[in-house]
Amino acid sequence: LAKRQSTPLSPLNPEEKILVDSVSNVSISEWSYYYTHGYHVAGKNMTMAEWTADRWRENGWNASVVSYNVYLNYPVNKSLSLTYSNGSTFQPLLEEAVLDVDDTTSYPNRVPTFHGYSASGSAEAEFVYVGRGQQDDFARLKELGVPLEGKIAISRYGGPFRGLKVKNAQANGMVGAILFTDTGDDGDITEAKGYAAYPEGPARNPTAVQRGSVQYLSIYPGDPTTPGYPSREDSPRADPQTVMPKIPSIPISYVDAIPILAALDGHGVDGETVNRTRWVGALNVSYSTGPAPGTTINMRNLMEDTHTDIWDSIGVINGTNPDETIVIGNHRDAWIIGGAADPNSGTAIIVELSRAFGKLLAQGWRPKRNIVLCSWDAEEYGLVGSTEWVEEYIPWLTDTAVSYLNIDVGASGSWPHISATPELHGISTDVMKKVPWMDTNRTMYDAWIEYTGGGIGVLGSGSDYTSFVHKGIGAIDMGAGGGSSDPIYHYHSNYDSYHWMSNFGDPEFLAHKYMTKYLTLLAYNLATAELLPLNVSNWATQMEIYYGDLVETIKSTSDTLDISLLRSALDEFSSKTREIEALEQQAIANQDVALTTLVNHKKRDFQRGFVSQGGLPDREFYQNLIFAPGLDTGYAPTTFPGITESFLAGNLSVAADPLSTTGNEIRILVIEPPSPEDNRIQCRLEH
Ligand code: GLU
Ligand code: CA
Ligand code: ZN
Ligand code: ZN
Repeated sequence: LAKRQSTPLSPLNPEEKILVDSVSNVSISEWSYYYTHGYHVAGKNMTMAEWTADRWRENGWNASVVSYNVYLNYPVNKSLSLTYSNGSTFQPLLEEAVLDVDDTTSYPNRVPTFHGYSASGSAEAEFVYVGRGQQDDFARLKELGVPLEGKIAISRYGGPFRGLKVKNAQANGMVGAILFTDTGDDGDITEAKGYAAYPEGPARNPTAVQRGSVQYLSIYPGDPTTPGYPSREDSPRADPQTVMPKIPSIPISYVDAIPILAALDGHGVDGETVNRTRWVGALNVSYSTGPAPGTTINMRNLMEDTHTDIWDSIGVINGTNPDETIVIGNHRDAWIIGGAADPNSGTAIIVELSRAFGKLLAQGWRPKRNIVLCSWDAEEYGLVGSTEWVEEYIPWLTDTAVSYLNIDVGASGSWPHISATPELHGISTDVMKKVPWMDTNRTMYDAWIEYTGGGIGVLGSGSDYTSFVHKGIGAIDMGAGGGSSDPIYHYHSNYDSYHWMSNFGDPEFLAHKYMTKYLTLLAYNLATAELLPLNVSNWATQMEIYYGDLVETIKSTSDTLDISLLRSALDEFSSKTREIEALEQQAIANQDVALTTLVNHKKRDFQRGFVSQGGLPDREFYQNLIFAPGLDTGYAPTTFPGITESFLAGNLSVAADPLSTTGNEIRILVIEPPSPEDNRIQCRLEH
């Protein structure tokens, strides 16, 4: 842990004071209560979309609900059983225990456990434990001679995005996938270490199941049938199979996983010998690979395919300057009735944010820039609501968007964390110094330093910033999570309920309250500052780090790669950012309004140049050449992804056409100075 600091609180201007003084944990808990007591699954939450727009309207925003017609699938039924070689059987529960404390209303409280976008189908086969299901895990299994073809995979949650675990199992000829939660990811807060499980205590309820989408994510998000364009009822539809698994998959709890894993003990290679990262978890089994001869799983998954409407609520405050826009977004759909943390902590926060801005609007205030507030549907299936909206409004977003501020799980604990594009690092940490944290005298900045050591994440994927970032719009993602001794957050489980939140996660809704203050002040500063508080030169600083990582990656192999073009591109970029900063100084010194506008537009536009129309090799959607979700991680980013991933895949041949999108050729980043008539720093991949 970093040394405990005490950074003084930064002063607030009168408008900032009105904003933060209006924020109340009492009203936030009311919003939270509303959202956690209704059916949320994507495409089935229209009343919540309208309710959200109504609240924003009451607070002075111009709000509406827009719909898209998208492909989704819903669970019909499933089964799973284990048959030992002696013929006896084990029947897992598959569903979570119903707790009275979570059933606070007459709403139908059950959404079955299932995987969004999973394949319908059945399988009966011997099974193999595949660790976290990354490509390296499968490579290790093959090296050990463990048979995969025709078997069912049982994989631990954690690490890569769940859809990639299923994708990798399928690519290795496996015929079904079972994903389980392992208490090895719960640190010390486990029943095995003496903590009571929810609802009695802070440990994980043994029957908790993580639902979630199994689309591939790292190929493209959004409606899988309309890649690159908005989904309307009459839109042409592509075959979705390229981004969705063909083998059935089912998620299970740790209590259901134990007998299944135990059946593999003594068969194949034991977990210690496999010797892979996070292979061995904390359950009382040997994490052997299997298969156990003659011991089989029989699984069946039936989904209903449908095209259905989804609803994004959009609220607008028009700025005095129509050319610059700040977008704030959070998703509203959840896998369950509650969803107190995911996403409704964020949803409650943005309703409270709308109320805070309402106080200023009531005084006749208008921001300099447009503020657009978005409540997305169908994030959980694959960032569908945000991606379709970006695909529809991209011409206007390209012209005016300055930053996108995302809040998904706004509070599942009380330790703040952020990930952001480099130009936002400075302002996002400065604003933390304006927020006292959790009703103490300590700043949010100090709490953030203590928890993260001051690290700001690079955006990979897993939430709604993705479509913005890959169109060259800078973004931040934020939230407050639990520390290593805090209650276990039951991600995508029925136990992510109002009861859990108000008893364990954030009992007084204080993390909600202070995250609201933070997001509100960040939006206010971005929307009102005369000179945009964005630091362009930090891109040069951060890209040096990514460059160093690339050099290390190359060194760690026996191959070589000439990246001198990238080196000179970075130097060129760095000198261009100094030119923008010189202009900025001149604008300040001379109080030059025209020059201020020019600098603001350069700051708004420069990173559009980091997108390549053709996208990354074999993944046209992912157009940001500086960072992207890792091909085999989904959540975690890869920097200079085109170069890094092509190099690691051994695809060193040179593109015939430098801007072509097909093939796995390696290409090198080239950055050109902005021309007088175009604010973008041109950037493309070439050989
Ligand atoms: N937040 C969702 C998840 O992690 C995103 C789903 C997706 O992008 O497909 O499951
Ligand atoms: Ca689309
Ligand atoms: Zn979420
Ligand atoms: Zn989620």
